[in-house]
Amino acid sequence: MKNVSINKQAKLSEHLASPSEATLSHSNMLDGLRLSPHFSLAELTKTSYHPQDGNIPSHVAIENLTKLCVWLEILRKRYNQKYGDATREIPVVITSGYRSEEVNRLCGGARGSNHLTGCAVDIRCAGPEQLIRYSSILLDIADGTRREFDELIHEKRGTTWWLHFAVRPSVNRRKILFDMR
Ligand SMILES: [Zn+2]
Repeated sequence: MKNVSINKQAKLSEHLASPSEATLSHSNMLDGLRLSPHFSLAELTKTSYHPQDGNIPSHVAIENLTKLCVWLEILRKRYNQKYGDATREIPVVITSGYRSEEVNRLCGGARGSNHLTGCAVDIRCAGPEQLIRYSSILLDIADGTRREFDELIHEKRGTTWWLHFAVRPSVNRRKILFDMR
């Protein structure tokens, strides 16, 4: 009887441990892969959900994320030049990058979202001021490099602010929107 209950316990803990272990090995696997000097594949694929599919991007999606990182590196550099100080570098924090169909569904993302192809990132903003500054730098990058972007969406839910920024391999629509609730 005692053995049975120990076995049950072991089974249960094995079951409970599996999602976090899966997440750990996923993040370990992607951790070493850098898309650019300051952005890793792990950061651009992380999710707080525990999707069964592991949220693993295709090589095409990774290519799209890598192209986005070119913009993110310039954004980071210019933001620090303008608003940073010598004591510390201010990171550009990505809260969501690539999303599998499953993750997109779990987080209530739009159907056909640019996140599904690795063409979009959500950039965390401390508040409206940082949102406007990020947005203005990204517009300047587009004009300065004569490159187009697909979406620049200023988002707010309650007290959480972020900038949704998307660049596609082609057919970039330069959609600038405000979605504040
Ligand atoms: Zn987004």
